[in-house]
Amino acid sequence: MITGKNYIGNNLSAVGSEIFKTFDPQQNQPNAWEFYEATHDEIDQAVQLAHEAFQQYCFFSGIEKAQFLRTIALEIEALGDVLLSTYCKESGLPQGRAIGERGRTIAQLNAFATLLEEGSWVDATIDTAQPDRQPSPKVDLRKMLFPLGPIAVFGSSNFPFAFSTAGGDTASALAAGCPVIVKSHPMHAGTSELVSSAITIAAQKTGMPNGVFSNLNSKGIMVGQKLVIHPLIKGVGFTGSIKGGTALYKLANERDEPIPVFAEMGSINPVIVFSSALKKEKEAWATSYANSMMLGAGQFCTNPGLILGIKSEDLDRFMEVLGKALEKLEPSCMLHPDIHTNFENGKRTLSEQADVSIVAEYRGDTNRNYAKQKVLKIDGANFLSNTRLHQEVFGPFSIVVECESIRELKQIIQKLDGQLTGTILGSENEISEHSQIVNALQNKVGRIIFNGVPTGVEVCPSMQHGGPFPASTDSRFTSVGTSAIKRWVRPVSYQNWPNNALPDELKDENPLRIMRLVNTIHTNASIL
Ligand code: NAP
Repeated sequence: MITGKNYIGNNLSAVGSEIFKTFDPQQNQPNAWEFYEATHDEIDQAVQLAHEAFQQYCFFSGIEKAQFLRTIALEIEALGDVLLSTYCKESGLPQGRAIGERGRTIAQLNAFATLLEEGSWVDATIDTAQPDRQPSPKVDLRKMLFPLGPIAVFGSSNFPFAFSTAGGDTASALAAGCPVIVKSHPMHAGTSELVSSAITIAAQKTGMPNGVFSNLNSKGIMVGQKLVIHPLIKGVGFTGSIKGGTALYKLANERDEPIPVFAEMGSINPVIVFSSALKKEKEAWATSYANSMMLGAGQFCTNPGLILGIKSEDLDRFMEVLGKALEKLEPSCMLHPDIHTNFENGKRTLSEQADVSIVAEYRGDTNRNYAKQKVLKIDGANFLSNTRLHQEVFGPFSIVVECESIRELKQIIQKLDGQLTGTILGSENEISEHSQIVNALQNKVGRIIFNGVPTGVEVCPSMQHGGPFPASTDSRFTSVGTSAIKRWVRPVSYQNWPNNALPDELKDENPLRIMRLVNTIHTNASIL
């Protein structure tokens, strides 16, 4: 049942007077539930509880934390159809997407549980003492990763499950040993409350300390800002706009004790089409691109928004096929009227720029809040000089840039902002022939794709989801896949520490049988 209250640890709380509702964009009307915005006191209580919980939770074993994560996954599944229908009512997304995203969220939680059960993720590194070393003896040093402390997680609008309450940020922070306070996204506060109830039940069932998880409602920026500046918060996870992410990043850096903000923000995900792809496979690639651009009403951070090719008849023909493919695809509902309005404004602003022309535009009638797809084109020189055209329009929108030469193509790539992904469509020969283009692209992105589309982010250890700014605030880390745990930890070295007093991960006998780097050799053996 949705109560509209905040979860302060295991307790429901609604002492504030600010009330808000979520919105059903398919029906174009507010949902019935009322949510109580968290007050300053409730925010402080949640953080204090998280701080107290951390003192115990940071010492819980990998097996205990894994059991917690696996139980969260089971409890989310047990919420059944109520959770799915709430998700659909608060996002306008279809039930198939809700089921798929729930599956991904459960898989993510279980993947972190498996990582914890195996245990080697702590990067245990041991250099044993050399008392006889000349000219001076060498001390015994042993290092591993430890959790940072309470983390604030901002639920994203476009992934109500997988990047929200029990999404990748929360799962990775809990796996690392950090309590989490979620600032739920105001567009799906009901979905967030239901998922929070699953996390809270799981925490109680598996004996986690009260305060290991809290969920705060808000419809404005106050709750998020209070959280980020709270002295007991030690890190922030965010997915959303460049404006929101950079504001929180600045706030965190202005604190007396600055803290890391891992914000995954905008990207236009350039796709470079070399001549072989234009000649031989233009139909197939234009159709794949159209489908990728339309997926989820274009509301994915990996949505392709820019095509770069050399001006030619083949590129003209590619654009024709792309236009026809796009005109056949039916628009779908966006997450919220505000996001739809942003999309319409962004489309209009870019369409009004000098020297652009239309490649494709959906001209039929649609329901309210549905996103009508559009593709513009422009020549390379004008694109280079107008950086307004380099910015993301969140939704099914793209620009094709007709470059005069490979040299101009390279200049354009070098002028782009940092991106989550970059894609090359072409042949293996073209990759070697145009290695400068490939290298320029690689320097701009977190993931480089050959003959594919950027949408579809596999959740696995080798995934990199995060790129140079403004794609994310710290390109050294990923927000998808099990490496995301590395955002919430810091290394600690023990010098000359007695074996019995060391954490199990660093003991001579290696009781957890984890892989360690011992005297520069990777091994899961004990130290004799
Ligand atoms: P958003 O405006 O960045 O908001 C995300 C979350 O951050 C919300 O909970 C919001 O709180 C909070 N927030 C934003 N600015 C803040 C600030 N200055 N201080 C404290 N908290 C702040 O993103 P959104 O609501 O999800 O969607 C708006 C636009 O963001 C979209 O139209 C799209 O352009 C972009 N977006 C991009 C991606 C991507 O993956 N590239 C994903 C999602 C959204 P409140 O809402 O409570 O104010």
